[in-house]
Amino acid sequence: MLLSKRRNVGPPKLKHFIWRACHGMLAVKERFFYRHITNSQTCQLCGDNAETIVHSIFWCKYAREIWLRSDYRLMLDVSPSTCFAEILLWVTEKLSSSDLTTFMALAWLPGAVETKLTSRGLSRIR
Ligand SMILES: [Zn+2]
Repeated sequence: MLLSKRRNVGPPKLKHFIWRACHGMLAVKERFFYRHITNSQTCQLCGDNAETIVHSIFWCKYAREIWLRSDYRLMLDVSPSTCFAEILLWVTEKLSSSDLTTFMALAWLPGAVETKLTSRGLSRIR
C-alpha cells in the first residue's frame, strides 16, 4: 500500500480513511449517482460541482477554506493529478512523516465536518 513504507503515519482510523479515499470508497454523491441511489451528483455543501472524493476533500469551497489556512495550500495548487491516490502519492514523496500525518488529518477534516453538519440537519449551506 501507498503508506506501507511509512508505518508511523497517523492513527488506524486515519489510515483507514485514507485507504478508503484511495480506493474510491468514500460516501460521496458521485458514487451514489452512478449506483442510482440519488438522482444528482452535485455537491450537497457548495452546490457548484460534482461531489467527487477529490472535490469533497480538496476543492469544495468549504474544504478549500481549511486548506487555504494550512501549510499545504501551494502544494495542492500545483498537484499534478485529480486522483486522490495520485495526489497523496505525490505529497508523500515531498513531506516528512509528521507533515504527512497532518496532511492526512486535514484531508479527513472536511468529511468529518460535513458528517457533523448533516447529522444536525445543516447539510445545505449556501
Ligand atoms: Zn462542494
